Amino acid sequence: VIEVSHLYKEYQTAAGPFPVLKDVNLRIAEGDYVAIMGPSGSGKSTFMNILGCLDKPTSGNYVLDGHAVATMEANAVAGVRNQTIGFVFQGFNLLARSSLLDNVGLPLVYSGVEKAERQARAKVLLEKVGLGKHIHSRPNQISGGQQQRVAIARALVNTPSLILADEPTGNLDSVTSEEIMALFGQLNKEGITIVLVTHENDIAEHAKRQVRFLDGEIVQDTVTDSRQVGEGASEQSE
Ligand code: ATP
Ligand code: MG
Repeated sequence: VIEVSHLYKEYQTAAGPFPVLKDVNLRIAEGDYVAIMGPSGSGKSTFMNILGCLDKPTSGNYVLDGHAVATMEANAVAGVRNQTIGFVFQGFNLLARSSLLDNVGLPLVYSGVEKAERQARAKVLLEKVGLGKHIHSRPNQISGGQQQRVAIARALVNTPSLILADEPTGNLDSVTSEEIMALFGQLNKEGITIVLVTHENDIAEHAKRQVRFLDGEIVQDTVTDSRQVGEGASEQSE
């Protein structure tokens, strides 16, 4: 699904170019489940924004689903992105004045889907994430964990093959975080590729593979099997 090679990213600042990603190479196969880890400022979100086609690398190649998106023109990139990727961000980005149904259906507005169809699809997904009783509620009437599930339902509405999540449990207590991770685990079993950023080892252990950034470089790439974490986990050097 994802092939990144010799990827560099520098931000232009008043003090001059500021390098953030330095020769990042990573392949992620269909059905994989990857946790991205590393200290604050190591470039995780920058990398996720590039994977999500929200930002372009300064140089290097990025092939998403067979498309060389780093060198493609913006409209074409948006098309690939909308067909392929669902995003889940920390802080949820839900519309406060809209019902859960409208929040989840929102991405379909941009794909020109009619309202009745949008609501029907949003309802199915809210049921899937356990919020079937709350479809007419507003985000401020439900808990943080429930809001995160709404954000996940919204990410699923375009039937993506890849979900990118930047600290999806960052605001949540540990019990609620486990519920969210169970939901990601279920989606991965259904065949969706998942890449998520987390600071917490407990969260990263749910993934099949842990990739660690340090100062804009990948310094560790460990493949575990989540079913046998704690014993006999295999390790691959990068
Ligand atoms: P955190 O764990 O705190 O979220 P991160 O690993 O996600 O950190 P990034 O957000 O990718 O880190 O930032 C990497 C570096 O790039 C930081 O030093 C940050 O200050 C810098 N940076 C991020 N965005 C910009 C920008 N738009 N312009 C200039 N510098 C930026
Ligand atoms: Mg970040």
